[in-house]
Amino acid sequence: MRKSVIAGNWKLNNDVKATKEFLFELRDKIKDTEVEVVVCPPFTSLSTAVELVKGTDIKVGAQNMHWETSGAYTGEVSGEMLAELGVEYVIIGHSERRQYFNETDETVNKKLIKSLKLGLIPIICVGESLEQREKGIQKDIVTKQVISAFKNVNTEDAKKVIVAYEPIWAIGTGITATSAQAEEVCGWIRETFVELYSTDVAQVIRIQYGGSVNNGNVKELMNMPNIDGALVGGASLKLDFENLVKY
Ligand code: PGA
Repeated sequence: MRKSVIAGNWKLNNDVKATKEFLFELRDKIKDTEVEVVVCPPFTSLSTAVELVKGTDIKVGAQNMHWETSGAYTGEVSGEMLAELGVEYVIIGHSERRQYFNETDETVNKKLIKSLKLGLIPIICVGESLEQREKGIQKDIVTKQVISAFKNVNTEDAKKVIVAYEPIWAIGTGITATSAQAEEVCGWIRETFVELYSTDVAQVIRIQYGGSVNNGNVKELMNMPNIDGALVGGASLKLDFENLVKY
């Protein structure tokens, strides 16, 4: 019922030249996949990416946005600017942004509300640190992040959001959460939506897992009932991403 979505988060990789070379190869390989396929290049490569994937099954997302339309916010890019380029998705609240760029639950909420207003599909990232998992408080942490992100988001809008559960200890480390660990938290996230909205809404919202997803582990993760896709960093930079999305 829920269409799975696999998104590649390129992070600070692939300038315009590399984006051209990569997508020129990838776009013909990704046709009629069962899952929705999204690539999220850095801002400077977005317009190139949008042009290159026109008429293909690949969609383009950004890695961040500001909630204001315009103004004195040096270094920021607005959702309107992304929409104007033809960008359709936006990653919000990635743990690297929370850790290095002062992203908070409040700014995630503002960005989520604005992205929905603009018709962008937000991918909201949540996840606990290793220390928090060792203390056994991962459920509290993730639930709080979800509740804060969805503050003042109405039922119809909530259904459009993608949530990515990304345990920080699994990102870029080669340590993947086991499928059971990932499923457990994605299940808690879905329960949170039952409480925040309704069972119907909870059944519609797509929940991805992210953190060292690769060709070897993607199938097992995707087979979990509450996991509807993946947010992929390192493995999305290789042409082998074709096989990952065709798991
Ligand atoms: P990774 O990154 O796949 O390289 O672990 C995932 C992410 O940060 O979204």
